[in-house]
Amino acid sequence: MSMNEAMFYEKSDAGVRCLLCPHNCVIGEGNRGVCNTRVNIEGRLFSTNYGEITAMAMDPVEKKPLYHFYPGSAIFSVGSRGCNLKCPFCQNWQISQNSEYPATFYTPKDLVNRALKYDTIGIAYTYNEPSVWFEYVMDVSEIVCSKGLKNVLVSNGTLNEKPFDLLCGVIDAMNIDLKSFNGDVYRKIIKGDLETVKRNIATAHSKGVLVEVTTLVVTGINDNFEELINISDFLASIDRSIPWHISRYHPSYKYDKDPTDIDFMIDVYEAASESLDYVYTGNIAPSLPGGDTVCPGCGTILVSRSGYNVVVKALDGQGKCSGCGHDTGIRM
Ligand code: SF4
Repeated sequence: MSMNEAMFYEKSDAGVRCLLCPHNCVIGEGNRGVCNTRVNIEGRLFSTNYGEITAMAMDPVEKKPLYHFYPGSAIFSVGSRGCNLKCPFCQNWQISQNSEYPATFYTPKDLVNRALKYDTIGIAYTYNEPSVWFEYVMDVSEIVCSKGLKNVLVSNGTLNEKPFDLLCGVIDAMNIDLKSFNGDVYRKIIKGDLETVKRNIATAHSKGVLVEVTTLVVTGINDNFEELINISDFLASIDRSIPWHISRYHPSYKYDKDPTDIDFMIDVYEAASESLDYVYTGNIAPSLPGGDTVCPGCGTILVSRSGYNVVVKALDGQGKCSGCGHDTGIRM
Protein backbone atom coordinates (compact mmCIF):
# COMPACT_ATOMS: atom_id res chain seq x y z
CA MET A 1 0.00 0.00 0.00
CA SER A 2 1.42 3.42 -0.91
CA MET A 3 0.98 6.47 1.30
CA ASN A 4 0.86 10.06 0.16
CA GLU A 5 -0.05 13.03 2.31
CA ALA A 6 -3.51 14.38 1.56
CA MET A 7 -3.82 17.90 0.12
CA PHE A 8 -7.06 18.91 1.83
CA TYR A 9 -7.31 18.48 5.59
CA GLU A 10 -6.90 20.36 8.85
CA LYS A 11 -6.15 19.47 12.46
CA SER A 12 -9.14 19.09 14.76
CA ASP A 13 -9.55 18.39 18.47
CA ALA A 14 -10.51 14.79 17.71
CA GLY A 15 -7.73 14.20 15.17
CA VAL A 16 -7.89 15.56 11.62
CA ARG A 17 -10.77 16.77 9.46
CA CYS A 18 -10.60 15.74 5.80
CA LEU A 19 -11.78 18.59 3.56
CA LEU A 20 -11.83 16.71 0.25
CA CYS A 21 -15.52 15.82 0.03
CA PRO A 22 -18.74 16.89 1.74
CA HIS A 23 -18.49 14.14 4.35
CA ASN A 24 -15.75 16.30 5.91
CA CYS A 25 -14.82 13.26 8.04
CA VAL A 26 -13.26 13.86 11.44
CA ILE A 27 -10.75 11.02 11.74
CA GLY A 28 -9.10 9.89 14.95
CA GLU A 29 -5.57 8.50 15.23
CA GLY A 30 -5.15 5.30 13.18
CA ASN A 31 -8.66 5.51 11.70
CA ARG A 32 -9.99 6.01 8.19
CA GLY A 33 -12.74 8.19 6.72
CA VAL A 34 -16.02 7.04 5.12
CA CYS A 35 -14.22 6.27 1.83
CA ASN A 36 -11.83 3.93 3.62
CA THR A 37 -8.91 5.32 1.60
CA ARG A 38 -7.71 8.12 3.91
CA VAL A 39 -6.00 7.41 7.22
CA ASN A 40 -4.83 9.54 10.14
CA ILE A 41 -1.27 8.65 11.10
CA GLU A 42 0.20 10.68 13.94
CA GLY A 43 -1.98 13.69 13.19
CA ARG A 44 -1.35 13.72 9.44
CA LEU A 45 -3.83 12.54 6.81
CA PHE A 46 -2.62 10.16 4.10
CA SER A 47 -4.27 8.71 1.02
CA THR A 48 -3.74 4.94 0.88
CA ASN A 49 -4.38 4.49 -2.84
CA TYR A 50 -1.87 6.93 -4.39
CA GLY A 51 -0.50 5.22 -7.54
CA GLU A 52 -2.37 2.00 -6.76
CA ILE A 53 -3.82 0.72 -10.03
CA THR A 54 -6.45 -2.04 -9.83
CA ALA A 55 -7.66 -1.91 -13.43
CA MET A 56 -6.16 -0.71 -16.72
CA ALA A 57 -7.56 -1.02 -20.27
CA MET A 58 -7.88 0.72 -23.62
CA ASP A 59 -11.59 1.56 -23.83
CA PRO A 60 -13.78 3.24 -26.44
CA VAL A 61 -14.41 6.77 -25.14
CA GLU A 62 -18.11 5.97 -25.59
CA LYS A 63 -17.79 3.43 -22.75
CA LYS A 64 -17.20 6.21 -20.15
CA PRO A 65 -19.84 7.19 -21.47
CA LEU A 66 -18.75 10.26 -23.43
CA TYR A 67 -20.52 10.72 -26.76
CA HIS A 68 -19.41 14.31 -27.46
CA PHE A 69 -15.67 13.94 -26.92
CA TYR A 70 -13.60 12.63 -29.83
CA PRO A 71 -16.30 10.17 -30.97
CA GLY A 72 -14.95 6.83 -32.12
CA SER A 73 -11.60 7.22 -30.34
CA ALA A 74 -10.00 5.05 -27.66
CA ILE A 75 -8.68 6.14 -24.29
CA PHE A 76 -6.24 4.56 -21.84
CA SER A 77 -8.40 3.99 -18.74
CA VAL A 78 -7.28 3.35 -15.18
CA GLY A 79 -8.85 2.90 -11.78
CA SER A 80 -7.86 2.37 -8.18
CA ARG A 81 -9.82 1.47 -5.01
CA GLY A 82 -12.42 3.27 -2.96
CA CYS A 83 -15.49 5.48 -3.15
CA ASN A 84 -17.05 8.13 -0.95
CA LEU A 85 -20.62 6.91 -1.63
CA LYS A 86 -22.35 3.70 -0.55
CA CYS A 87 -24.75 2.85 -3.40
CA PRO A 88 -26.29 -0.56 -2.64
CA PHE A 89 -26.60 -1.15 -6.41
CA CYS A 90 -22.94 -0.31 -7.20
CA GLN A 91 -21.90 -1.85 -10.51
CA ASN A 92 -18.17 -1.79 -9.61
CA TRP A 93 -18.36 -2.69 -5.92
CA GLN A 94 -15.43 -5.12 -6.06
CA ILE A 95 -12.97 -2.22 -6.32
CA SER A 96 -15.04 0.68 -5.01
CA GLN A 97 -15.92 -0.91 -1.67
CA ASN A 98 -12.82 -3.01 -0.98
CA SER A 99 -9.86 -1.05 0.36
CA GLU A 100 -7.64 -4.16 0.17
CA TYR A 101 -8.26 -5.03 -3.48
CA PRO A 102 -4.92 -6.06 -5.09
CA ALA A 103 -3.18 -3.31 -7.03
CA THR A 104 0.03 -2.52 -8.89
CA PHE A 105 1.96 0.68 -8.12
CA TYR A 106 2.77 3.17 -10.89
CA THR A 107 4.39 6.54 -10.37
CA PRO A 108 2.59 9.29 -12.31
CA LYS A 109 5.45 9.37 -14.84
CA ASP A 110 5.41 5.58 -15.28
CA LEU A 111 1.66 5.61 -15.83
CA VAL A 112 1.86 8.29 -18.52
CA ASN A 113 4.74 6.44 -20.20
CA ARG A 114 2.60 3.30 -20.22
CA ALA A 115 -0.30 5.23 -21.77
CA LEU A 116 1.97 6.64 -24.47
CA LYS A 117 2.59 3.11 -25.79
CA TYR A 118 -1.00 3.07 -27.06
CA ASP A 119 -2.95 5.01 -29.66
CA THR A 120 -4.84 6.99 -27.02
CA ILE A 121 -6.33 10.47 -26.81
CA GLY A 122 -5.18 10.62 -23.17
CA ILE A 123 -6.01 9.04 -19.82
CA ALA A 124 -9.40 8.39 -18.22
CA TYR A 125 -9.69 8.11 -14.43
CA THR A 126 -12.59 5.73 -14.00
CA TYR A 127 -13.85 2.34 -12.70
CA ASN A 128 -13.73 3.32 -9.00
CA GLU A 129 -14.39 6.88 -7.76
CA PRO A 130 -11.50 9.15 -8.77
CA SER A 131 -12.51 11.87 -6.26
CA VAL A 132 -10.89 9.79 -3.53
CA TRP A 133 -7.79 9.37 -5.72
CA PHE A 134 -7.47 13.13 -5.89
CA GLU A 135 -3.73 13.72 -5.40
CA TYR A 136 -2.73 11.05 -7.89
CA VAL A 137 -5.26 12.23 -10.49
CA MET A 138 -3.86 15.78 -10.18
CA ASP A 139 -0.24 14.63 -10.50
CA VAL A 140 -0.89 12.38 -13.51
CA SER A 141 -3.16 14.95 -15.17
CA GLU A 142 -0.50 17.65 -15.09
CA ILE A 143 1.92 15.37 -16.96
CA VAL A 144 -0.80 14.36 -19.43
CA CYS A 145 -1.49 18.07 -20.13
CA SER A 146 2.22 18.69 -20.72
CA LYS A 147 2.21 15.97 -23.40
CA GLY A 148 -0.70 17.62 -25.22
CA LEU A 149 -3.06 14.75 -24.38
CA LYS A 150 -6.51 14.80 -22.77
CA ASN A 151 -7.71 14.00 -19.26
CA VAL A 152 -11.11 12.44 -18.67
CA LEU A 153 -12.82 11.98 -15.30
CA VAL A 154 -15.73 9.64 -14.65
CA SER A 155 -17.03 10.69 -11.28
CA ASN A 156 -19.93 10.84 -8.84
CA GLY A 157 -19.25 14.59 -8.57
CA THR A 158 -19.02 14.47 -4.78
CA LEU A 159 -16.14 16.80 -4.01
CA ASN A 160 -15.81 20.04 -2.10
CA GLU A 161 -15.53 23.28 -4.02
CA LYS A 162 -11.78 23.95 -3.78
CA PRO A 163 -10.54 20.53 -4.89
CA PHE A 164 -13.18 20.40 -7.60
CA ASP A 165 -12.02 23.77 -8.96
CA LEU A 166 -8.47 22.42 -9.14
CA LEU A 167 -9.64 19.39 -11.10
CA CYS A 168 -11.49 21.63 -13.55
CA GLY A 169 -8.13 23.24 -14.36
CA VAL A 170 -6.65 19.97 -15.67
CA ILE A 171 -9.59 17.80 -16.78
CA ASP A 172 -10.87 18.18 -20.35
CA ALA A 173 -14.04 16.11 -20.12
CA MET A 174 -16.12 14.68 -17.30
CA ASN A 175 -18.95 12.27 -17.07
CA ILE A 176 -20.71 13.03 -13.79
CA ASP A 177 -23.30 10.74 -12.24
CA LEU A 178 -26.47 12.47 -11.11
CA LYS A 179 -28.01 9.52 -9.34
CA SER A 180 -31.33 11.02 -8.26
CA PHE A 181 -33.05 14.40 -7.94
CA ASN A 182 -34.30 13.53 -4.47
CA GLY A 183 -32.14 14.81 -1.61
CA ASP A 184 -33.40 12.03 0.68
CA VAL A 185 -32.28 9.32 -1.75
CA TYR A 186 -28.82 10.88 -1.80
CA ARG A 187 -28.66 11.33 1.96
CA LYS A 188 -30.26 8.11 3.18
CA ILE A 189 -29.51 5.49 0.51
CA ILE A 190 -26.46 6.66 -1.44
CA LYS A 191 -24.87 8.53 1.48
CA GLY A 192 -24.08 11.62 -0.58
CA ASP A 193 -25.29 15.15 -1.19
CA LEU A 194 -27.46 16.16 -4.14
CA GLU A 195 -26.67 19.89 -3.97
CA THR A 196 -22.92 19.25 -4.18
CA VAL A 197 -23.34 17.22 -7.37
CA LYS A 198 -25.64 19.84 -8.94
CA ARG A 199 -23.15 22.59 -8.08
CA ASN A 200 -20.23 20.67 -9.54
CA ILE A 201 -22.03 19.93 -12.81
CA ALA A 202 -22.76 23.64 -13.23
CA THR A 203 -19.22 24.63 -12.20
CA ALA A 204 -17.50 22.24 -14.59
CA HIS A 205 -19.68 23.41 -17.47
CA SER A 206 -19.04 27.08 -16.67
CA LYS A 207 -15.29 26.47 -16.62
CA GLY A 208 -15.28 25.00 -20.12
CA VAL A 209 -15.00 21.32 -19.20
CA LEU A 210 -16.98 19.12 -21.62
CA VAL A 211 -19.62 17.71 -19.27
CA GLU A 212 -21.90 14.75 -19.87
CA VAL A 213 -24.23 13.46 -17.17
CA THR A 214 -25.34 9.89 -16.46
CA THR A 215 -28.28 8.62 -14.45
CA LEU A 216 -28.53 4.90 -13.77
CA VAL A 217 -32.28 4.34 -13.53
CA VAL A 218 -32.61 1.92 -10.63
CA THR A 219 -35.85 0.02 -10.00
CA GLY A 220 -37.43 1.12 -6.73
CA ILE A 221 -34.88 3.88 -6.04
CA ASN A 222 -35.10 6.58 -8.69
CA ASP A 223 -37.47 5.20 -11.35
CA ASN A 224 -39.87 8.05 -10.75
CA PHE A 225 -40.92 9.83 -13.94
CA GLU A 226 -41.30 13.30 -12.43
CA GLU A 227 -37.99 13.14 -10.61
CA LEU A 228 -36.18 12.06 -13.75
CA ILE A 229 -37.76 14.86 -15.75
CA ASN A 230 -36.63 17.22 -12.98
CA ILE A 231 -33.09 16.11 -13.84
CA SER A 232 -33.49 16.90 -17.54
CA ASP A 233 -35.07 20.26 -16.67
CA PHE A 234 -32.19 21.04 -14.31
CA LEU A 235 -29.59 20.24 -16.98
CA ALA A 236 -31.51 22.28 -19.55
CA SER A 237 -31.50 25.23 -17.14
CA ILE A 238 -27.70 25.16 -17.37
CA ASP A 239 -27.46 24.41 -21.10
CA ARG A 240 -29.82 22.33 -23.22
CA SER A 241 -26.84 20.92 -25.13
CA ILE A 242 -25.48 19.01 -22.10
CA PRO A 243 -25.73 15.31 -23.05
CA TRP A 244 -27.75 13.18 -20.61
CA HIS A 245 -27.32 9.40 -20.54
CA ILE A 246 -30.07 7.36 -18.95
CA SER A 247 -28.74 3.93 -18.32
CA ARG A 248 -30.46 0.63 -17.52
CA TYR A 249 -29.68 -0.94 -14.16
CA HIS A 250 -29.05 -4.65 -13.61
CA PRO A 251 -29.00 -6.29 -10.16
CA SER A 252 -25.59 -5.93 -8.49
CA TYR A 253 -23.86 -5.82 -5.09
CA LYS A 254 -26.54 -5.61 -2.34
CA TYR A 255 -29.51 -4.80 -4.59
CA ASP A 256 -31.50 -7.40 -6.49
CA LYS A 257 -34.69 -5.74 -7.73
CA ASP A 258 -35.58 -6.42 -11.39
CA PRO A 259 -33.68 -4.60 -14.15
CA THR A 260 -35.16 -1.25 -15.21
CA ASP A 261 -38.32 -1.45 -17.28
CA ILE A 262 -37.30 -0.64 -20.86
CA ASP A 263 -40.63 0.95 -21.87
CA PHE A 264 -40.32 3.29 -18.89
CA MET A 265 -36.82 4.28 -20.02
CA ILE A 266 -38.07 5.06 -23.51
CA ASP A 267 -40.88 7.21 -22.05
CA VAL A 268 -38.30 9.18 -20.05
CA TYR A 269 -36.06 9.46 -23.11
CA GLU A 270 -38.89 10.91 -25.20
CA ALA A 271 -40.05 13.37 -22.54
CA ALA A 272 -36.52 14.55 -21.70
CA SER A 273 -35.81 15.10 -25.40
CA GLU A 274 -38.30 17.99 -25.27
CA SER A 275 -35.97 20.06 -23.10
CA LEU A 276 -32.52 18.61 -23.91
CA ASP A 277 -30.91 18.37 -27.35
CA TYR A 278 -28.99 15.17 -26.66
CA VAL A 279 -30.53 12.38 -24.61
CA TYR A 280 -29.00 8.91 -24.85
CA THR A 281 -30.02 5.49 -23.58
CA GLY A 282 -27.50 2.96 -22.30
CA ASN A 283 -27.37 -0.76 -21.45
CA ILE A 284 -30.28 -1.51 -23.78
CA ALA A 285 -30.45 -3.00 -27.30
CA PRO A 286 -28.78 -0.77 -29.92
CA SER A 287 -31.91 -1.05 -32.08
CA LEU A 288 -33.88 0.98 -29.49
CA PRO A 289 -33.93 4.82 -29.56
CA GLY A 290 -31.19 6.90 -27.94
CA GLY A 291 -27.97 5.62 -29.51
CA ASP A 292 -27.32 8.08 -32.34
CA THR A 293 -26.46 11.76 -32.19
CA VAL A 294 -29.05 13.65 -34.20
CA CYS A 295 -28.67 17.29 -35.26
CA PRO A 296 -31.11 19.48 -33.27
CA GLY A 297 -31.07 21.92 -36.20
CA CYS A 298 -32.03 19.73 -39.17
CA GLY A 299 -32.52 16.15 -37.91
CA THR A 300 -29.52 14.68 -39.75
CA ILE A 301 -27.86 11.70 -38.05
CA LEU A 302 -24.45 13.13 -37.12
CA VAL A 303 -22.94 10.11 -35.36
CA SER A 304 -24.40 6.62 -35.60
CA ARG A 305 -23.72 4.04 -32.92
CA SER A 306 -24.42 0.36 -32.66
CA GLY A 307 -22.84 -0.80 -29.43
CA TYR A 308 -19.27 0.51 -29.66
CA ASN A 309 -19.35 0.59 -33.44
CA VAL A 310 -19.26 4.37 -33.98
CA VAL A 311 -19.47 6.14 -37.34
CA VAL A 312 -19.11 9.92 -37.61
CA LYS A 313 -21.39 10.65 -40.56
CA ALA A 314 -22.08 14.36 -40.85
CA LEU A 315 -19.79 16.52 -38.69
CA ASP A 316 -17.07 18.86 -39.86
CA GLY A 317 -13.75 19.05 -38.00
CA GLN A 318 -15.19 21.70 -35.63
CA GLY A 319 -18.17 19.66 -34.43
CA LYS A 320 -20.66 21.45 -36.70
CA CYS A 321 -23.40 19.67 -38.64
CA SER A 322 -22.24 19.39 -42.23
CA GLY A 323 -25.88 19.72 -43.34
CA CYS A 324 -27.07 22.92 -41.62
CA GLY A 325 -23.96 24.16 -39.78
CA HIS A 326 -25.49 23.74 -36.29
CA ASP A 327 -22.72 23.84 -33.67
CA THR A 328 -23.10 20.70 -31.53
CA GLY A 329 -20.18 21.44 -29.20
CA ILE A 330 -18.81 17.97 -29.96
CA ARG A 331 -15.03 18.04 -29.57
CA MET A 332 -13.21 16.43 -32.47
S1 SF4 B 1 -12.54 11.90 0.96
FE1 SF4 B 1 -12.92 10.17 2.36
S2 SF4 B 1 -12.02 10.78 4.30
FE2 SF4 B 1 -12.19 12.62 3.06
S3 SF4 B 1 -14.15 13.55 3.66
FE3 SF4 B 1 -14.56 12.25 1.88
S4 SF4 B 1 -15.14 10.25 2.69
FE4 SF4 B 1 -14.19 11.39 4.36
